[in-house]
Amino acid sequence: MTTIGSKLQQLRQRIAAACDVHGRPSGSVRLLAVSKTFDDQAVRDAAAAGQQAFGENYIQEGVEKILLLRDLPLEWHMIGPIQSNKTRAVAQHFDWVHTIDRVKIAQRLSEQRPPELPPLQVCLQVNIDGGVNKSGVPPEEALALALACAALPRLVVRGLMVIPEPADEPEAQLRPLLQARALFEQLRSRGEACLARMDTLSMGMTADLEAAIQAGSTLVRVGSAIFGVRPRAD
Ligand SMILES: *Cc1c(COP(=O)(O)O)cnc(C)c1O
Repeated sequence: MTTIGSKLQQLRQRIAAACDVHGRPSGSVRLLAVSKTFDDQAVRDAAAAGQQAFGENYIQEGVEKILLLRDLPLEWHMIGPIQSNKTRAVAQHFDWVHTIDRVKIAQRLSEQRPPELPPLQVCLQVNIDGGVNKSGVPPEEALALALACAALPRLVVRGLMVIPEPADEPEAQLRPLLQARALFEQLRSRGEACLARMDTLSMGMTADLEAAIQAGSTLVRVGSAIFGVRPRAD
């Protein structure tokens, strides 16, 4: 087995163990393999080990990989910030976008989604801990953004995504993750059908995977635990 294959296997065990400890069904947490800065061969190795969903942060790098890997049935998630003049490439090549934080970006993605493709699956990025200079809509604006996105014909609102400030202590990790969970449940239980259908809470990375699963994450985005330390900082 390749190194990536055995790391993936270990990671799946780590996810399953966390589900077990926190009384969650195994299979209730999806794994998104974050392949940013790694080449197409790394993605092939992960795909050969059974991984299907991949996340990219940089549009150009992501599109290049998507085109090189068209022979594989992969699902591609955009998890980095999107400038409004770069939406077309995202709408044309990705299956999911986790970083919607403005109606304008959502409108452009909906308009530019090619008719032959299924609607774009989106998560709204929420700045859950109010970090300055951080992407994401403030929690109190999430409802309005969700309703505006749900009204767009070529988007499906799947849920929320958060990137809390890094913290070492499990308790400090847990606090913003629990706030994200509470916001997710609050939006889902309001009575609007388009919000009741949300099924994705995208949170948890290599360092806070267990806390995220404890708090109710349904999709963890993991890079370095699979592919190793990234060649460049970001
Ligand atoms: C890089 C990145 C990840 C993965 O981080 P690791 O620490 O390598 O697991 C997850 N989410 C986002 C938004 C990222 O940019």
